[in-house]
Amino acid sequence: MPSAPSARSATDGRPADGPAIGETCDYCGATALQWRKCKLICENCRQINKSCADL
Ligand SMILES: [Zn+2]
Repeated sequence: MPSAPSARSATDGRPADGPAIGETCDYCGATALQWRKCKLICENCRQINKSCADL
């Protein structure tokens, strides 16, 4: 039988840190957004567009 799965990433509903493809900044319209510690941050204006709690 398979043993208990080890810590998985991005399978528990939490986005992994890294570039957010297809997202657009609500503040400046840039498309360079990154997930950082459960927050979607615009690389251009540094505004937080979204957080895990909003998903
Ligand atoms: Zn922005």
